[in-house]
Amino acid sequence: MAERLARLLRWRCVVIDKREHIGGNAHDAFDSAGVLVHSYGPHYFRTNSARIIDYLSQFTAWHPVEYSIKSRTAGRYWSFPVNLNTYEEMVGHPATEEEFAAYLERVREPIERPANSEEVMLASIGRELYERFFEGYTLKHWKRHPRELDASVCGRIPVRLNRDNRYLSESFQALPRDGYTAMFGSMLQASAPTRFLPGMPLEEARRHFTWKHLIYSGPIDSYFGECHGRLPWRSLRFEPESFTAAKLRNDASADGPAGFWQPAMQVNYPDRDIPFTRIVEIKHATGQRIDATTIVREYPADYEETGEPYYPIPAPDAKRQYRLYRELAEREENTTFIGRLATYRYYNMDQIVGMALKKADDLVARFGGGGNKVRSENEEVRRKKLR
Ligand code: UDP
Repeated sequence: MAERLARLLRWRCVVIDKREHIGGNAHDAFDSAGVLVHSYGPHYFRTNSARIIDYLSQFTAWHPVEYSIKSRTAGRYWSFPVNLNTYEEMVGHPATEEEFAAYLERVREPIERPANSEEVMLASIGRELYERFFEGYTLKHWKRHPRELDASVCGRIPVRLNRDNRYLSESFQALPRDGYTAMFGSMLQASAPTRFLPGMPLEEARRHFTWKHLIYSGPIDSYFGECHGRLPWRSLRFEPESFTAAKLRNDASADGPAGFWQPAMQVNYPDRDIPFTRIVEIKHATGQRIDATTIVREYPADYEETGEPYYPIPAPDAKRQYRLYRELAEREENTTFIGRLATYRYYNMDQIVGMALKKADDLVARFGGGGNKVRSENEEVRRKKLR
């Protein structure tokens, strides 16, 4: 937003973050083993939008990736998301698309309009696959049963009849070649004279600055002092472990190809008795050439435990509560609420970029036109004076 507003409206922008670095949750950094890791969980950039690719391509080159993940349960790795390979692994012999389709036809539950995440999976893959891959994972991750979550939560994971093992379906799948932090760095540079002030929470900024417009991307309930109660947020605890080449060779649990700990960028652990949901080894995706590697175990956590609100909870009760805040937000003057936390929606990164571009367009339409009008009115006055 700052980049757009600085360039298109010539606004003098100040970007603040209560954290000490740019990039928000998309921030990445080299850890002590020299491995580039995503500091707040993996950010798999993908999109179908040419506008979004064009916009971001001003600030970064790309490293194309086919994001591929596996699920681990019952003592083995499984192809995931569910596809023909998964089916073969389940039945233990080669099979055709037709056989898999016939299986699904048999086990699918006839639910016409799936109203929650359990129903959406029962209607698409049946009980056995749902229980194996989705029920436990979802319970751990959200601390809610799939029955209590919108259909869109589990419904966002594709199910394929063919052997396409890619986790995501969008046409453009790539990471910023030099990382997200570098991309945001060059965006900030292009936003001159925009300043970035790290370690500055909004309350402190209020003491230092006045502004004609605020773009707020923090949690909406905090903005309004939690006057309608705290919204339910879900959080994560990240536990990194790094391996030098020697440590990797000596680690009996290492299962990956040379230089890697595990066989895929992400391995999901849907079993309820395992406290983490997934292990991410982002080097598979970044393409970094380095002997060392780092894996990060993700433990679901309550917001109260970490103080980090990562996920809004896509459930009817949470949305009802959010609507009370949205009403306040709509009445808040000179303020734009944007992003996952301020609009309480489970957006992907490209959707956030799209939202920012759209909101910037709106501000340009509102203030660009108005600004020109003010300028021409002033010119009129000046001309009259000259006459
Ligand atoms: N999910 C699941 N099992 C899996 C992967 C995903 O049950 O192996 C469900 C789970 O509820 C999860 C949701 O699908 O929160 C969305 O998964 P995604 O990988 O997109 O989650 P994110 O990366 O946004 O945390």
